[in-house]
Amino acid sequence: MIKSEDMNKKNYMYLYCVNCEEEGIYFIDDMEQDCFIKCNNCSKEIADVWCEDCGMGGPFVENLENKPHSWKCPDCNRGYSLSDDFYSNPFTLYRGNQVPKEIIESIDKRFKKKKKGLFGLLKRK
Ligand SMILES: [Zn+2]
Ligand SMILES: [Zn+2]
Repeated sequence: MIKSEDMNKKNYMYLYCVNCEEEGIYFIDDMEQDCFIKCNNCSKEIADVWCEDCGMGGPFVENLENKPHSWKCPDCNRGYSLSDDFYSNPFTLYRGNQVPKEIIESIDKRFKKKKKGLFGLLKRK
């Protein structure tokens, strides 16, 4: 089941879970936000963070299991810090087949212009 607070969010992102070997979907309001995400299938924790210099997002936080409070962009080496509550409210990664197409379509319809590209690899602005 998709949490109702997730269904009301403005955007969604595709994210690959290496444990499930499958692409899932998580819901987000502010696409420039760094996200700590938990797979609802296998409980794997994933950080999806964004380097504004490179215009690139990805799972760049090293040693995530130690819950570090900073990370470095693998591309430009810029350092970023993560807020204290970064880990406290994980986003839920749903498996693709758990997300009804209607939800995706209704978000597309409501917020089409703000949608970011697949995998967070495209520019968010
Ligand atoms: Zn998983
Ligand atoms: Zn960078």
